[in-house]
Amino acid sequence: MKKALERHNIHSQVHTIHGRLLVNTPHEAADIIRKVPGVVSVSPAWRMDYENVPRFLSEHLAGMNPSSFKVEARRINKAFHKTSQQINEEIGAFVVQNFGWKVDLENPELAIGIEMIDNEAYVFFETKKGVGGLPSTTQGKLVLLLSPGIDSPVAGFLMLRRGASLVALHFDQGHSETVKQMVNVLNDYSSEPIELIVIDHHESFSPYVIELERMRKREWTCVLCKILMLKKAEQIARQKSALGIVTGDSLGQVASQTLENLFLESSAVNLPIYRPLIGMDKDETVKIAKDIGTFDIFLKAARHSCPFRPSSVVTRGSIHVLRRIIDAFKSQGLWQD
Ligand code: ATP
Ligand code: MG
Repeated sequence: MKKALERHNIHSQVHTIHGRLLVNTPHEAADIIRKVPGVVSVSPAWRMDYENVPRFLSEHLAGMNPSSFKVEARRINKAFHKTSQQINEEIGAFVVQNFGWKVDLENPELAIGIEMIDNEAYVFFETKKGVGGLPSTTQGKLVLLLSPGIDSPVAGFLMLRRGASLVALHFDQGHSETVKQMVNVLNDYSSEPIELIVIDHHESFSPYVIELERMRKREWTCVLCKILMLKKAEQIARQKSALGIVTGDSLGQVASQTLENLFLESSAVNLPIYRPLIGMDKDETVKIAKDIGTFDIFLKAARHSCPFRPSSVVTRGSIHVLRRIIDAFKSQGLWQD
C-alpha cells in the first residue's frame, strides 16, 4: 500500500491493528488502495474519541436527508467498555433526536459505521470494494506475453491479483506506446514496477516467414508466430527466474486458439503456460478491461494489421507437419531446442 501511494506521491503510514490495516492518508487515496492486491475493502474513516462522535455526526451529516439510516457498530477488540448494541442504541437515538431520520435496519439509505479499536472510534459511511486476491509479489514471477489488445492485459491483471509478479514481453508492430500505457495501468496492481521488454516483431519474425513461404506452409504463420513468442518468453523466463508464461488466449476465440493449436503451442515450450481467460467469454473479459482501465487505452490506440497474416490459417494443425517445419527451421539455423 505504501508503495502504491508513493507512486502517486502520497506519503503514508500504515499500521496493523487487530486484523485491520490503518492507513493515515487523505480519503482520496482510497481509490489507489482499493487496487492493491489482497485488499478486500476500503472504508474511508474519521478517527476520534467516542465522546466526540455525536458532535462529528451533527456537523458531518448536516444538510443530508436520507430516507432512512442505521448505525452499525463493532468492537474490534474489547478494550472499550460499551457493547456494540449499546453504541448502536446510543448513537442511533442521537441521530433520531437531532435529525428526525427514520431507522431501517434492513435496507437503510445511509449506514453509519462505527468501529471501536483500542478506545478510539473510526466513523465511516461507505465501504469500497477492493480488488481482492493475494498480496502483491508473494507468489513468484511470470512472463506475460502482452499485446495492445483487450485480452492479454486482463490476463496479466488476473495473475497480478493472485500475487504473481510480472515481466511483460511485447513483440512490437508499431504499438509500443500503447503497450507502455497498458503496463502503466497494470503497475497500479503491482508493488514492484513491471519490466517491459520490447522486441521488433518484423525483424525477429521475417526469416521464419521467408522459410514458411519456401515450404509452401504460409498458412502456418500464426501458429509459428505464437510458438516463437512463447519460446522467447521461455528464454526470458529462465534469465529472470520466472516460473511460467501468461497469455490472453481464450478457447476458440480466433484461429490460433483452437484446442489443437493451443496443444501445438504448448508442446513447443518446457514451461507451464497460464491462460487465465481460457474459459471466459469476450464480454466477461471486456468488463474486466473496462473496470481496470485498459479497455479505454485499447479503444484509443491506432490499429495496424499484421503484415505477415496469410489469407488462410491453420486451425487444426497436425504435430507431424509442425515437426517438419521445425526441422526445416533447424537446418536453416533458425531454431534451437
Ligand atoms: P489480445 O486480445 O490479447 O491482444 P488477440 O485476441 O489478438 O490477443 P492472438 O493474436 O491470438 O489474439 O494472441 C493471443 C495471445 O498471444 C495474446 O493474448 C497475447 O498473450 C499473445 N500475443 C499476441 N500478440 C502479441 C504481441 N504482439 N506481443 C506479445 N504477445 C502477444
Ligand atoms: Mg485475444
